[in-house]
Amino acid sequence: MFRCGICKQLVDYGLPAIPVVVERRDKTYPSRTYVLRGTSIVDPGGVGWEIAREVAACAPCATRANAPPDPEPPVPEPEPVSDALH
Ligand SMILES: [Zn+2]
Repeated sequence: MFRCGICKQLVDYGLPAIPVVVERRDKTYPSRTYVLRGTSIVDPGGVGWEIAREVAACAPCATRANAPPDPEPPVPEPEPVSDALH
């Protein structure tokens, strides 16, 4: 039994607690050089993100939280300008 970190409802015993990332932070990975089996390897590093805060959620909340965002609504085509007035 646990309390969902999103809806705050108690979840019955035996139901899974699904981890949901609720906050991320940017992360910069520095360049590094290491040796593997006698070969020098350069890792260029880069940028990415890491988990800042994660909660245990019930299945419906986890499904909603992990769903892809709604696509942008299509931009309507502009009305064609009529030449009748000219
Ligand atoms: Zn919930």
